Amino acid sequence: MSREQVGHFIRAIAQDNPAPETELLYTDAFSLLVAVVMSAQATDAMVNKVTPGLFAAAPTPAAMAALGAEGIGALIRRIGLWQGKAKNVAALSAMLVEQHGGEVPRERTALEALPGVGRKTANVVLNVMFGEPTMAVDTHIFRLGNRTGLAPGRNVREVEDGLVKRIPPELLRDSHHWLILHGRYICKARAPDCWRCRAEPWCNYRDKVMTPPLRA
Ligand code: SF4
Repeated sequence: MSREQVGHFIRAIAQDNPAPETELLYTDAFSLLVAVVMSAQATDAMVNKVTPGLFAAAPTPAAMAALGAEGIGALIRRIGLWQGKAKNVAALSAMLVEQHGGEVPRERTALEALPGVGRKTANVVLNVMFGEPTMAVDTHIFRLGNRTGLAPGRNVREVEDGLVKRIPPELLRDSHHWLILHGRYICKARAPDCWRCRAEPWCNYRDKVMTPPLRA
């Protein structure tokens, strides 16, 4: 896909969500960081069911560290991988208190040094909280990058680098949300709704589904 096509594609899907936001519930950088750590292999909807209770019990890094892995685990058992997530949230909260004055750092290296925080989580926090034009590649964006021709890549880093390089700079920050929402609701994994996709004229996918499914 040419850079011009990429620009048309992104502008087209932006029409579905002119002011996009993450679907995770959060109130500040700390609650966003914790929610994103919780969202690994769990849907945002599922994470949103457990985080309000967790943040009510422990609204700050100090309170979360004091609650500890056991206390956190008791409140998040409904989400996948809860034991590992509880340990990571307790440990990253303690590290925020000990090394960052209880604040979430805005540098990538400091973020990625926190337990349970990888490049994708750091990219989401930098984008949503600190306004940086990062591209967190999740399963939807990885599929879209390859399927449509936006940014083909063998791994998430290649897709991330391709998107950052090719998306017009002024569209890059919000593109993270536009692409996730497009992948979640229209360019779905099994059968994309190409028949109602605004970006269809610029998409290179060979097996487009141009007929709506029959309803019983
Ligand atoms: S035309 Fe189909 S495959 Fe291409 S982006 Fe739209 S939904 Fe996805």
